[in-house]
Amino acid sequence: RLLPYFFRGKVVQGFGRGGKLLNCPTANLDSTAVEALPKDFPNGVYAGFARVDDGQIHKMVMSIGMNPQFKNEIKTIEVHILHEFPKDFYNSMIEAIALIYLRPMNSFNSMDELISAIEEDKRTAQFQLDDPKMRKWTDSELFSKI
Ligand code: ADP
Ligand code: MG
Repeated sequence: RLLPYFFRGKVVQGFGRGGKLLNCPTANLDSTAVEALPKDFPNGVYAGFARVDDGQIHKMVMSIGMNPQFKNEIKTIEVHILHEFPKDFYNSMIEAIALIYLRPMNSFNSMDELISAIEEDKRTAQFQLDDPKMRKWTDSELFSKI
C-alpha cells in the first residue's frame, strides 16, 4: 500500500472555489508536490494530519486529482485542515500525512450533492482520526522528518 504517504508543498493560489462555493477552503499545493506523487497513487479523497509551517498538527481531509465536478485539466493536491485559521496562509509550507482513503473523486449530479459528500468526508475524517491507533502519526518528530 502507498499509505501512509508523507508529503510537503507550498500553498499556492487555486481557482478560489473551495472556500466560497463549497464552504471548504482547500490549500492547493504547488506543482512540485503534485509531480512528486508516485505515478500509481490513486486519485481520491483522503484523511490524515497536516501542519502549516511550524504550527500545530491538525486533522485534515484532502483530495488528489482533477476535480471532475469542475473539469479541471490539471491534477491538484488540496488540503482542507479541520481547524479555524485566523487568516489565509498562501505561500506557507504544508507538511502532511495521508493515512486513510475515503472515496474516489466523483462528479456529482449537483453542487448540493458535492457539498453533502464533502461534509460527510469531514465527519468521517474527524471520527476515524480520533482512533487511538492514529495518534502515533501526530508526533511532531515524525513531521520534522518530512
Ligand atoms: P484557492 O482556490 O486559492 O485554493 P480556496 O477557496 O480553496 O482558494 O481557499 C484556500 C485558502 O484558504 C488556503 O490557501 C488558505 O490560505 C486558506 N485557508 C483558511 N483556512 C483554511 C483551512 N482550514 N484549510 C485550508 N485552507 C484554509
Ligand atoms: Mg483551494
